[in-house]
Amino acid sequence: MKFYSTNHTSPSVGLREAVMNGLAPDGGLYLPERIPVIPQAFFKNISEMSIRDIAYVIADLILGEDIDASEIRQIVNGTFTFDIPLVGIDKNIYSLELFHGPTMAFKDVGARFLARVISHYSSLAPARKVKVVVATSGDSGGAVAAGFKDVPGVEVYILYPSGQLSRMQRAQLDVPGGSVHAIEVLGTFDDCQRMAKQAFADETLRKDFLITSANSINICRLLPQMFYFFYAYASLMGRDEDGAGDVVFAVPSGNLGNLTAGLLAWRMGLPVKRFVVSNNTNDVTVNYLLTGRFTPRRSVRTIACAMDVGNPSNISRILDIFGGDFGPVQRLVKGYSYSDEEIAGSIARTYSADSYLLDPHSASALAALREDLQPGEKGIFLATAHPAKFPKVIYDATGVELRQPQLGDPSHKPMSHPRISVSYEALKKILIQ
Ligand SMILES: *Cc1c(COP(=O)(O)O)cnc(C)c1O
Repeated sequence: MKFYSTNHTSPSVGLREAVMNGLAPDGGLYLPERIPVIPQAFFKNISEMSIRDIAYVIADLILGEDIDASEIRQIVNGTFTFDIPLVGIDKNIYSLELFHGPTMAFKDVGARFLARVISHYSSLAPARKVKVVVATSGDSGGAVAAGFKDVPGVEVYILYPSGQLSRMQRAQLDVPGGSVHAIEVLGTFDDCQRMAKQAFADETLRKDFLITSANSINICRLLPQMFYFFYAYASLMGRDEDGAGDVVFAVPSGNLGNLTAGLLAWRMGLPVKRFVVSNNTNDVTVNYLLTGRFTPRRSVRTIACAMDVGNPSNISRILDIFGGDFGPVQRLVKGYSYSDEEIAGSIARTYSADSYLLDPHSASALAALREDLQPGEKGIFLATAHPAKFPKVIYDATGVELRQPQLGDPSHKPMSHPRISVSYEALKKILIQ
């Protein structure tokens, strides 16, 4: 399979290059040149398939020309070491709990899959060591660290801004074994990101190492997110004799990775009637769906902080999936945005009416689903994080006290991280050690 850039200037590349580049040289995002359509017969028995089996079939259709079947099996099995249950909340409304992985958020899926694909390519060219360099402002560092934990042959460097991480977020960067290196940078997140980009572009470094970035726009973080849309559909079929029926997916959105994956699944033949996007007050996507005009702006802080995005990175992929035509996007995707008060209200209402605790991101998606779902339809919302990751928000909305989960090793003593100034030379020294 070839992957093209959504900016259409860089040449198409094979899987290996798309994964190692992350971003295309022209600044565009990679998408598969051909989106295979799954034969309808596949859906007959899908309700009896595990997430691993479903993931294998889909992954093989897209990656099968580039990676051996047995290797794809291993990558998929290593990714899904936890289940993704579909939980009934209310009549015809279901929560797809994506938060049972090591860092209790859906980003584990993409991080684990990407780590295994990178490791696969590293094993093919052992002479050139693979070094992954990423900048984090919070949770994504933990997901990447956990994703690469048991993956051989790859060194990971995570840059974080000094003083900006919570205790839990920092603890998640301490991975025993020595292949994950956290680096404290005396600067901002933007400084970290700039230094990571410098490493990526450093020709002298690239002579000796394969440098890649594992960032959120990598095609191999996106593709595995399709698997759980299929699995959710399968779970719904399995529990209703009439079959899945008219299914509506609600997606709490920031950079639109999950929505993009859902739309790709739909293009592959997953019978979805409609997608519903929820935004917090950073409602750039919702405005786009209403007006057809994409107007990025500075993000503001909300209680659904992982959705505080003012310039959603996947927007070019979404338009491309529809051949650049806005009309069909608008017909298939509806959008709703919510203030912090409305999100807290959704958490409170769902707890008192359905005895179900929601994290703020998932709460926005459920609110949108409740507004949009029509009689006879079935709604699935993506529950993207565990509520216990947001104890203060939950307490304020419901009075329920949740213990902040201990992620990582409970007997863990904080490891010391090298601390460097905002200097690429200082980073480079660590990278070549
Ligand atoms: C990253 C994140 C989102 C937003 O997902 P996108 O794919 O970027 O739209 C939603 N909820 C949680 C908990 C997240 O961590």
